[in-house]
Amino acid sequence: MKKYIWAARATIVVAGAALLTKGVLPHEILFGRAGTGELSRELLHDEESPIHQLADSLHEQPAEIAPPPPQQPIVRSFQHAVRKGATFNSLWREIGGDVDDVTAVLDALKDSGVNAGSLRVGEELAVTQLNGEVIEVRKKQGENATVILTRDDHGSYAVKVDKLKVISKERRVTGTIVSSLGDSATGLEIPFSLVDDFVDLFSNRVEFTKDIQPGDSFTVIYEDRVSEDGERLAPGVIKAASIQLSGKMLAVVRDVSKDGTVRYFDEKGSMPTKAFLRYPLKYSRISSMFAFSRFHPVLKISRPHNGVDFAAPLGTPVRTVGDGVVVQAGYGSSTGNVVRIKHNDRYTTEYMHLNSIGKNVRKGARIGRGDVIGTVGRTGLASGVHLHFGLFDKGKYVDPMKAKIMDSPSEIRPPAAVIAMIEDLKKTHAAVNVASVRSNAKKKA
Ligand SMILES: [Zn+2]
Repeated sequence: MKKYIWAARATIVVAGAALLTKGVLPHEILFGRAGTGELSRELLHDEESPIHQLADSLHEQPAEIAPPPPQQPIVRSFQHAVRKGATFNSLWREIGGDVDDVTAVLDALKDSGVNAGSLRVGEELAVTQLNGEVIEVRKKQGENATVILTRDDHGSYAVKVDKLKVISKERRVTGTIVSSLGDSATGLEIPFSLVDDFVDLFSNRVEFTKDIQPGDSFTVIYEDRVSEDGERLAPGVIKAASIQLSGKMLAVVRDVSKDGTVRYFDEKGSMPTKAFLRYPLKYSRISSMFAFSRFHPVLKISRPHNGVDFAAPLGTPVRTVGDGVVVQAGYGSSTGNVVRIKHNDRYTTEYMHLNSIGKNVRKGARIGRGDVIGTVGRTGLASGVHLHFGLFDKGKYVDPMKAKIMDSPSEIRPPAAVIAMIEDLKKTHAAVNVASVRSNAKKKA
């Protein structure tokens, strides 16, 4: 927005200068006779000079009064974010487009298969104007395409979609944890979304906020994706991951069978069936976690706290930790917006103080593991923005950070490639171990 204001001011000043040259004052006063420039410098230095007075008065006037003369092309480029409640018409006007051209623009978009109604609030448009007329608008589409609307000299509009190639390469990274998994991953340029996926893969066997020690190592093999012009895109899936906790290695290897079925195998080559997720929030969004706040900060009384409180920013998506059926979704005076999900005959989970509940999350609805059911808030009796997460085993509260809620492994034998990958990961961690033993020995010496 700032840029926009400055650009508008620049237009006023240039337009003002244009008026000065165009006849309000003789051309010679500004630029001097025969190119000496002496007169102009004198006049410009004198505060009382007619040029200054005129320039001051021009400053007060709105831009419309001083249209730029055609012989001086003024190119202006700026970013414009789509505002809430904007229609295509209002948006087109806001960026300086001619209202009479709306139909022509919509037709051009339609001819190229671009949906004009797909604009989202906050989406950025790169606009270029020539002498106040919109001549180009660019908008990113998806992760690797740009929609370009152009206006030619005759005033007709055309749209093309520029698509960049996506270059996808397997990346293998091994790291040692110094303080936290997140820090180590950042240092190795592993994107946050991948750290979240990594945590979810080991979700039921590792409590990442507690079990990780400095010196533990991890390996992740994933699809690194870059667009043709070098921009880093969202990473692809994790093909294999391992973590060595105090000398014990855990691994998960992904396998896609010939018929397209995706399976994951652990380091023993067995295939755990769908486990619960450990965290109802993505790992990278959790700012703190506290399980035993005995004194209720709002009620000011002590009461059993049947859950884990996760602090996370307002509006952070909350996901259900397992497949199940919604048994409650609505508002309660102390719980605030609450969702309860029954997963099977034993387990039920609950999610409280939600800022909002997902549209399709209604009593009786089927929900899949990882589905977003609402957002973090502070509704009901909540002293601050947080998610209260509870797990019940046959109606009795259990600690969700300790519960082992995984079904028994299935009998499917891993393919040879998976076995080879597990061996490979074991070797990698053994090598990290040797290296860290050596460096410890060095430190002692
Ligand atoms: Zn709580």
